[in-house]
Amino acid sequence: MLRHEMNFQDTIKIARIKAFPIRASGTYSPKMALGTMPTRPALLVKIEDSSGCYGWGEIWANFPPRANTHKANIIEDVIETHLRGFSFSEPHEVQEVLRKTLSLYFLHIGQSQVFEHILAGIDTALWDIALRHEGVSFAQFMGLQSTKARSYASSINAEDLEQLIPFHTELGQTYFKLKIGFAEHGNAKIVENAAKLIPAGSRIMVDSNQTWTLEQAKVALRDIEAYEPYFAEEALRSDSPHSDWEELVASTDIPLAAGENIYGIEDFLALTRAGIKVLQPDVAKWGGVSGALDLAKNMPEDVLIWPHFMGTAVGQVAALSVSAAIGKSSYCEVDVNENLLRSELCGDVINIEDGRVELPSVPGLVHPPSLNRLTDFTDWM
Ligand SMILES: [Mg+2]
Repeated sequence: MLRHEMNFQDTIKIARIKAFPIRASGTYSPKMALGTMPTRPALLVKIEDSSGCYGWGEIWANFPPRANTHKANIIEDVIETHLRGFSFSEPHEVQEVLRKTLSLYFLHIGQSQVFEHILAGIDTALWDIALRHEGVSFAQFMGLQSTKARSYASSINAEDLEQLIPFHTELGQTYFKLKIGFAEHGNAKIVENAAKLIPAGSRIMVDSNQTWTLEQAKVALRDIEAYEPYFAEEALRSDSPHSDWEELVASTDIPLAAGENIYGIEDFLALTRAGIKVLQPDVAKWGGVSGALDLAKNMPEDVLIWPHFMGTAVGQVAALSVSAAIGKSSYCEVDVNENLLRSELCGDVINIEDGRVELPSVPGLVHPPSLNRLTDFTDWM
């Protein structure tokens, strides 16, 4: 786990913050608990200092369809004035101050978690600008032995197993996560079909996206136990009582995973006390890079951190970086479904080889978007 104590040398004064709502259309999307995504909305944020140094981050905006413009408006209307002129050395300082200043505002308007998404994306942008300012890559700054991050193949729809599992096997991936819990597919059937396709020594995971009750989860997990899934993700709602999690843990041999809908270290730690073995923070939803690294420092040794991610290449590289910093035990989610915001926005940068993705070697955290592509994908809704 993390050995390096982060310490940035310089103080950076924020001069500008700008939100970029974007959208890609015409590609095939994973089926999610909230519905399919007919288009892929996303929200990037760019922070600059007065010297022109800059950083890019991503704020989670998959749902609802105009979450990107909604959150972009909040940045412009509410956040910007608090950030302009603000100085920091360590990225985490900024979310701490903004939380103190604005958490009551967002509590009043019923958007506390939307606020957390925005803070998360800002933190990623601050890491990017701080590293670029210091002239080092994330791998150099963290003293990583390898500049490659481990990845797993995520969000494989039932009808795509025969195409996507062999394809990702060729890329060297050894963990395959299936979307289950949809009425039209028997849960056991999709796992059984996938088990026939994965290479020897590799594992299946399942994600039911919070859709089951405790009783449904017990039955569903019992039905797939024979296939020895590596973990079952969000088998219950993230706000389920801890006694429910404990009861489910006691009823199954399958390790349980959660995290994309958990906010705050304390809530993550409480889940581990209830027996959750795999935590999945999302750099675009809670805490950003700072939060995920802080979580990694505070984890019991027998708990894994496998970053969640579903969005553009900007946030994807941030999530992969967190995984690389945690080390060999951590694999980062990479969606198998076509998404131009992952494959084209920043150029061809998410190449999986040997199951791993090379992190940027130049100063900064992420690959900046190509300005032409950013214009092409701009969301004018
Ligand atoms: Mg999930």
